[in-house]
Amino acid sequence: MKINVAKSAGFCFGVKRALNIALHTVEHKKNVCMLGDIVHNEDVVRTISEAGIKKIGRLSSGEGKTLLIRAHGASKETFIKAKKAGYTLVDATCLMVKEIHKIAIKKEQQGCKIIVIGDKKHDEVKGITGQLKKQALVIDSLKSIPCIASLKKYKKAVVVVQSTQNIEKVEKVIKKLEKHIPHLEFYNTICQPTTSKQQEARSLPLKNEVMIVIGSKTSANTKRLYEISKSLNKKTHWIQSQKDLRKIWFLNVKSVGITAGASTPDKTTKEVVKRIKDFAI
Ligand code: SF4
Repeated sequence: MKINVAKSAGFCFGVKRALNIALHTVEHKKNVCMLGDIVHNEDVVRTISEAGIKKIGRLSSGEGKTLLIRAHGASKETFIKAKKAGYTLVDATCLMVKEIHKIAIKKEQQGCKIIVIGDKKHDEVKGITGQLKKQALVIDSLKSIPCIASLKKYKKAVVVVQSTQNIEKVEKVIKKLEKHIPHLEFYNTICQPTTSKQQEARSLPLKNEVMIVIGSKTSANTKRLYEISKSLNKKTHWIQSQKDLRKIWFLNVKSVGITAGASTPDKTTKEVVKRIKDFAI
């Protein structure tokens, strides 16, 4: 059986950087905490917690404490509140996410309405809209595009995109918006690691009999890889670790494609490869 692992599988540079910053910070400072999980992966979250970084639900008194801002970023209000509460801030926001913030802030200052294509509940999207003075319009699917009468009020608008969105879905939304907004500027802010992962998630399922997508069920970028792969190859399975593999999936199978979300450690992928190889013995 041939096993083909996507070149882009696993940690992106933003997640690697955030983890390095987190582990470096906890080595040098006491009382390090973060609002929520560092990334959507249970193994990584465990590593961070074992290193001594505490997850908190909300800000309290920050004297003598360090608050780590995660790769997804955070709103301006969070930064202001944290400083006021006395926290020392360490910002691990991914540079690609910072770039989206910069575009949105600059374009709002130039008088444009800001539209974000992304998942309303995702922290990255909340961080983007939380940079702005006025309320941004968040669109997460074709269905959530406002009615034509509402769109007509948007004379001049700029679209930015959550870094892990699926470009095909985004393009459909843009086409619809362009029909009703006279001056629409589109910034494709899907990051390079996501683009590479999605490209491979479009080619591997066509070249392999079975596809395995590895990542947490809470990971939005893994979910998109699974959706793309499943639409091209019905024998696509989304697993969190080698424990979820079933021998029956590989009976008489000659080729298996594997990809993994941006927050899936290489160790998890290696364990999956090993177990599939063991099935073939
Ligand atoms: S998925 Fe992209 S934007 Fe998000 S952390 Fe990774 S590199 Fe940064």
